[in-house]
Amino acid sequence: MSTILEIRSLQTSFNTEKGKVRAVDNVSFDIQAGEVVGLVGESGCGKTAVSLSILRLLPEPPASIDGGSILFEGTDLLTMKGEQLRRIRGNDIAMIFQEPMTSLNPVYTIGNQLMESIQLHQGLDQKAARARAIEMLRLVGIPRADEVVDEYPHRFSGGMRQRAMIAMALSCDPKLLIADEPTTALDVTIQAQILELMRDLKDRIGTAILFITHDLSVIAEMADHVVVMYAGKMMEKADVHTLFRDPQHPYTQGLIRSRPTIEKEQSRLMYIPGNVPNPLEMPGGCPFHPRCPHAMQVCVHSMPGRTELGKDHSVRCWLHHEGLTKPEKRKLRVA
Ligand code: SF4
Repeated sequence: MSTILEIRSLQTSFNTEKGKVRAVDNVSFDIQAGEVVGLVGESGCGKTAVSLSILRLLPEPPASIDGGSILFEGTDLLTMKGEQLRRIRGNDIAMIFQEPMTSLNPVYTIGNQLMESIQLHQGLDQKAARARAIEMLRLVGIPRADEVVDEYPHRFSGGMRQRAMIAMALSCDPKLLIADEPTTALDVTIQAQILELMRDLKDRIGTAILFITHDLSVIAEMADHVVVMYAGKMMEKADVHTLFRDPQHPYTQGLIRSRPTIEKEQSRLMYIPGNVPNPLEMPGGCPFHPRCPHAMQVCVHSMPGRTELGKDHSVRCWLHHEGLTKPEKRKLRVA
């Protein structure tokens, strides 16, 4: 497989009235052609800031990309401007957002919106664009596509709107699809249908997917590799089987334990105590330390570097830092 996206040491900030907030801090990962990478973490962990940084969709200012690189097929998206970027967006990289109603224009028919995107990116005439729009609606499983193509978004159910958004995103056969919580606003049965549809499209078209969600069950079903983020930082990265079988970061372990499953009998749902920190009041050292059951003195003052645990498995946690022996870690443990 060839690498389609390489993110290296990405740093994204927001300037607020109360100071500068680092939303993405030194994040690096790759996506191979045709694979699904899951980006997980609780709300406010910086997942969406990563996706919007890739497409350069953050308003600059107040946002700013302060460092790193985002190589798409070897070319740095961070050095691209205007027309060059517009060609990549929609054509090569497409995005599906969480709430389709906010992304669809209520005063244009679904067909017009699909055709606009197809004409803009593929240069087809109106007749060919309409035929392609109907074909895409069929592909995403919308019944009577040749009729509903002339309907307005409010006539579509939530699931149909999300399908229409997927049709729009895939209408130009993108090499990379960024799906930001694409099923969160949908009920479970529709969610299952949309996931099935995305899997099917990935297999048929070979699109790579960056799947952003806080829902680990969805990741377990969809992803090949997983990146776990907390407070803008990448905490653990592994292939999906390793991550679920042998999670090494206390935050990943907490997320997995909090996941409801039908396999384990538990009287109460587990949860990670505390909340994601306010970015303006970020704790020093490892930002997870106020919530971490294994926190040590060193965690309060210093953020560990990345430790490679195996092929494609890395973690940022003092518990795995080679510089500390087990007795030292025990001695350093916060009372
Ligand atoms: Fe917990 Fe320390 Fe590891 Fe952070 S570095 S996750 S506080 S043990």
